[in-house]
Amino acid sequence: MTESADHKRRGQCLCGGVVFEITVPRPSYHVCHCGMCRRWGGGPWMAVVCPGPATFISDETLAWFQGSKWAERGHCTKCGASLFFRLASKPDAITAISVDAFDDASDFTLGRHIYVDAQPGRYAFADDCPRLTEAEFQAEMRG
Ligand SMILES: [Zn+2]
Ligand SMILES: [Zn+2]
Repeated sequence: MTESADHKRRGQCLCGGVVFEITVPRPSYHVCHCGMCRRWGGGPWMAVVCPGPATFISDETLAWFQGSKWAERGHCTKCGASLFFRLASKPDAITAISVDAFDDASDFTLGRHIYVDAQPGRYAFADDCPRLTEAEFQAEMRG
């Protein structure tokens, strides 16, 4: 059976308290090097940006935390998994999701890096993907 490019994919947190499905138009992820992502997840955050909100099969342990004026982050209150990122003003517009929260992320490929001007010098990625600064990324978000 051929799966369409935008079929729904399933994912979950470590304990299974949060289980979701969402359409992934492009199996591509970015790495965010901003200080908030690193503090939230313990390192650079690898995320897939999906249109719309996720559909929850279970959200009993899901909590949203508004970490800045413009964004909210979703995590599991039981196992602590860092899962979701969305805009506070438009929560249904996009959902960025931790790439390894998906059950099968084997076909996901690295697309680009963002907030590279916030990246500390103690690690480096070896790929040749585009690297956007905070200003470049913000300009793109504003359209
Ligand atoms: Zn959990
Ligand atoms: Zn970030």
